[in-house]
Amino acid sequence: MAEKKELLYEGKAKKVYATDDPNLCIFEYKDDATAFNGIKKGSFEGKGEINNQMANFIFRLLEKKGIKTHMVEELSKRETLVKKVDIIPLEVIVRNIAAGSFSKRYGVEEGTPFKEPTLEFSYKNDELGDPLINDYHALALGIATREDIKTIANIAFSVNDALKEIFKNIGIKLVDFKIEVGRTAEGEIVLADEISPDTCRLWDAETNKKLDKDQFRRDLGEFAEVYHEVWARLNDYYKK
Ligand code: ADP
Ligand code: UDP
Repeated sequence: MAEKKELLYEGKAKKVYATDDPNLCIFEYKDDATAFNGIKKGSFEGKGEINNQMANFIFRLLEKKGIKTHMVEELSKRETLVKKVDIIPLEVIVRNIAAGSFSKRYGVEEGTPFKEPTLEFSYKNDELGDPLINDYHALALGIATREDIKTIANIAFSVNDALKEIFKNIGIKLVDFKIEVGRTAEGEIVLADEISPDTCRLWDAETNKKLDKDQFRRDLGEFAEVYHEVWARLNDYYKK
């Protein structure tokens, strides 16, 4: 079994450790949450365990649908062995319904559905506050080639189709989400990082209740409860 070696990186939500294999690393999910580029801080006990297990569960379902991911093996409730990839420094955001920064930037009421899903990129750079960028900027910055951008867009929309269905089955609307992708040692672009209520907007299909990190961002009072709720619904539906 892969052994944890030195800490490579400590982020806002996870620690990333080296292993004895240079092509593999271990994630350790923390209970911390941050918002607004790290300015707002919070946590609840067990968040790391839920996000780790939920992200792995979702990645497994995506793999079954033919989407390649970095996932190797869940090591414990909080730890996962993944393929170490070179992260392409883009936050890849897909939206089905207007919310968050889209609503603010373009003056569109939250909850307005789009005829077709939309895609945007932010340049993953904390110092610059993850600014919105377009394909041409990504090319100019040398972040990705034209072909990479096509591949990334295909991955993003495939993940959207798969996730919409996964969440629909448990009475949840997928409003929007962020993914990260990276290059494996073999040069293939795969889905990396995590998919969890930290990285998605999830609304109850009947009541529109927010079942995601907006509970924390907007101080809605049920941060821990809704993460438990989504995890319980996934377990009830898929593990019967
Ligand atoms: P942040 O860096 O935004 O605070 P995290 O706390 O989630 O985020 O840290 C995890 C870090 O690991 C992120 O920088 C992410 O881009 C990176 N990462 C995600 N998946 C992989 C992977 N498979 N290989 C290497 N790095 C990864
Ligand atoms: N998102 C994320 N990490 C980020 C920025 C956004 O996971 O650093 C997710 C966020 O949870 C939401 C989607 O991407 O599901 C779109 O976020 P938006 O651009 O509306 O930003 P926010 O409202 O968080 O400023």
